[in-house]
Amino acid sequence: MSYYVYENWVAENKAVIHVGTCGYCKHGKGCHKNPLGKKNGQWHGPFETLDKAQNIANATGRNVKKHRCV
Ligand SMILES: [Zn+2]
Repeated sequence: MSYYVYENWVAENKAVIHVGTCGYCKHGKGCHKNPLGKKNGQWHGPFETLDKAQNIANATGRNVKKHRCV
């Protein structure tokens, strides 16, 4: 199992944790891929454990949320 963090700094000030197999994540190539590139946010990962993902999410200083896939 791998974990990813999506950091979003435009729509909402948050960092969301996903598992790599999540349909929204797709191992960091998911639904947030768009022509704006990193204008809206960026993926971090993969991380081996939920703890590591959580630490990175916390380190962004944003509101940390877990997607329903976690
Ligand atoms: Zn997800």
